[in-house]
Amino acid sequence: MLDCAIIGGGPAGLSAGLYATRGGLKDVVMYEFGLPGGQITQSSEIENYPGVFREDPPISGAELMEPWPKQCMHFGLKHEMEEVKRVERDGDIFKIYLPNEKVVKAKSVIVATGSTPKRAGFKGEEEFLGRGVSTCATCDGFFYKNKEVVVLGGGDTALEEALYLSNICSKVYLVHRRDQFRAAPPTIERVLKKDNIELILNATIKEVYGSNMGVEGVIIEQKGKGEIDLKVPGVFVFVGTIVNNKVLKREDGSFICDVNERGEVIVDLKMRTSLPGLFAAGDVRVDAAKQVVCAAGDGAVAGMEAINYVREHFE
Ligand code: FAD
Ligand code: NAP
Repeated sequence: MLDCAIIGGGPAGLSAGLYATRGGLKDVVMYEFGLPGGQITQSSEIENYPGVFREDPPISGAELMEPWPKQCMHFGLKHEMEEVKRVERDGDIFKIYLPNEKVVKAKSVIVATGSTPKRAGFKGEEEFLGRGVSTCATCDGFFYKNKEVVVLGGGDTALEEALYLSNICSKVYLVHRRDQFRAAPPTIERVLKKDNIELILNATIKEVYGSNMGVEGVIIEQKGKGEIDLKVPGVFVFVGTIVNNKVLKREDGSFICDVNERGEVIVDLKMRTSLPGLFAAGDVRVDAAKQVVCAAGDGAVAGMEAINYVREHFE
């Protein structure tokens, strides 16, 4: 039986693995169906991970994450390239369901499966992701300092991020498919008061175009008015997120621990879920800042708490 099963090999899962193994847990397996590193490996530039900085060219997400697995493996973390299907509580222990009917038992579990920004579905969105199309203003806003950008979406995230970008960029075009925002009224008020946010309503992005160097412009389709061609280098898409929580769903669709109305796993400051022995870390948890440094911090806390849990309950 494993001391700890970690699900997900992004910054949260890897940090959990480092702290759990280096802190003394013996049998710790990280299940990650891809290469370890997580979603940041899709980003061509990261300049807000403290202590890791290169000016020209900026360090890429893949470069940042490259040494992490080796460090974890050095202290005994094992990686299995498997997709976990489901986690179940069975008495005092957990069962991890893997493909081909394989079931592994574990004393504790850390879920670090992340979240995935939804795609809007316009032409060029995937092609230019990380090269002008972004889903993170905190991560990428600075690259557009004193430049014009487009923000897509009409929810709280889109409006809050448009406000954030309006303090960095020279102008923000806020494109929304209806003429009513679903964001909170005070946020809408603040957006309306900003001189450098221009609303383009009843409109969707038809296409983002560019070259090898990245995005060069956006074609927007506005109901009754036709196409608008904006020559901007950056497009921020905030059309909702998918929380990767399906490993926590029972066969009847209910969750094995408490989640909020958005499916984010509810944890306390020690990353403990409502189910003893089950921890959640990183973007999958409630109120996640969705930053590498925060996911890594969560993972470290969860790893240390898993050690305490196993010692208290099994030794
Ligand atoms: P993730 O990194 O999403 O890792 C989760 C892992 O779990 C994935 O590797 C996935 O394959 C795996 N997984 C999921 N389900 C299963 C399963 N059932 N079985 C096995 N494995 C599973 N943050 C910054 O701090 N600065 C930036 O500049 C920055 N830029 C970004 C740019 C882009 C393009 C993107 C997409 C994100 C960016 N972020 C940035 C955000 C950052 O990447 C995330 O906040 C961080 O990666 C979250 O870490 P995590 O470990 O919680 O989840
Ligand atoms: P959201 O509320 O689901 O909003 C998504 C927005 O994207 C909507 O305006 C939607 O348009 C639009 N959209 C969806 N698919 C699209 C597509 N394919 N093309 C163009 N536009 C599309 O998502 P969110 O803003 O990320 O917020 C998620 C949840 O977190 C919400 O409950 C929100 O209140 C909450 N949140 C709260 C705060 C806060 O309290 N400070 C901050 C951030 C988020 P329609 O409006 O037409 O559907």
